[in-house]
Amino acid sequence: MDSIHKRIEDFNRRYGELKAEGLYFYLQPLEAIDGAWVACNGRRMLNFASYSYLGLLGHPWIDRAAREAIERYGTGTHGVRILAGSLPLHTELEQTIARFKKSDDAIVYSSGYATNLTTVSTLVGRNDVVICDKLNHASIVDGCLLSGAQFVRFCHNDMADLERRLQQAGPDKGKLVVVDAVFSMDGDIIDLPQVSRLCRAHNALLMVDEAHSLGILGATGHGIEEHFGLDGVIDIKMGTLSKTIPSVGGYVAGNQALITYLKHVARAFVFSAALPPAQAAAAKASFEVIEEEPNRVRTLRRNVELFLGGLKARGFDTLHSQTPIVPIICGADERAFRMTALCQELGIFVLPVVSPAVPANLARLRTCVTAAHSESDILHALDVFERAGKRVGII
Ligand SMILES: *Cc1c(COP(=O)(O)O)cnc(C)c1O
Repeated sequence: MDSIHKRIEDFNRRYGELKAEGLYFYLQPLEAIDGAWVACNGRRMLNFASYSYLGLLGHPWIDRAAREAIERYGTGTHGVRILAGSLPLHTELEQTIARFKKSDDAIVYSSGYATNLTTVSTLVGRNDVVICDKLNHASIVDGCLLSGAQFVRFCHNDMADLERRLQQAGPDKGKLVVVDAVFSMDGDIIDLPQVSRLCRAHNALLMVDEAHSLGILGATGHGIEEHFGLDGVIDIKMGTLSKTIPSVGGYVAGNQALITYLKHVARAFVFSAALPPAQAAAAKASFEVIEEEPNRVRTLRRNVELFLGGLKARGFDTLHSQTPIVPIICGADERAFRMTALCQELGIFVLPVVSPAVPANLARLRTCVTAAHSESDILHALDVFERAGKRVGII
């Protein structure tokens, strides 16, 4: 058997084993999503696996904006933006994002993954160096590989290592540093003050992925610059429209020259269809709701404190999380699967993340707390995690 067939076969053997043991949890269809609750296999469960951090999914005003866009424009754009696919809605969405992110302008793409892939590979090439945190999202890694630039990684959130890598790159190379604002598996925050200082000192451009910081960090949810009180230090502000924002797509906000360049050169923009009207309208309405309902950000912060504090008090290892993404470290993959099974039996919808997505001995439940959870939802979940954690032997 050749290596391609062998890889596929090996994977399917493992998949079959997990299914047979009742320890396979991925791709479960959710029949209903209702605030903090989901229905799965006919059972209502409290959802601790949602990225709808501010609970905006199903917001009546956002839903109405999407319906009105369909009534006016239909369901598709049958074209790329640069030729015949641009609607006033797209420009309005970009202006809304630019204002929200305090930038000159913005560009939207039809997926967050494609946004990172195309932005990194458009900005750097063969004669440049791209420097990444080791825990950056896969879409950034793929963009670096596609770019053909020299691809360098520094130890997670280690500023001495970043400085060394910048020095090694040399003064004459084009340099781009890319980091996640909030790391998607660990829930910790990049040291933006130091990263931005080092980038300036070494004449490197700085790109930050705010998939898990938009609507979350900062007193009013405007993101990581607001969190650190450092307006304007990020050159390329990337985010998704699929997490806090209940739509789909991705954006880059930045100065006018950057955005004009991307709108004519980035291949995921020039060669891929525009965001559908309903999704563009929903995304635009969502940014407006975040500003008009500032209480959601405050509720989220209160919930993070209650949830994270409660887990720590019960003895769970949550790494360095300070955000709604809270890993509950289980150890070996098998333990994370058993922990998941127990929690789901007890009515909490959570999912395990195992190797190779995370190191083999750091398999975890990847829990997310949102503004849609009530205090009693969180207290109930903490009880369930405690019972399950004791049975699996992780606390
Ligand atoms: C989810 C995610 C993306 C990709 O966004 P999609 O909108 O799902 O394509 C990019 N970066 C990070 C850090 C993410 O978590």
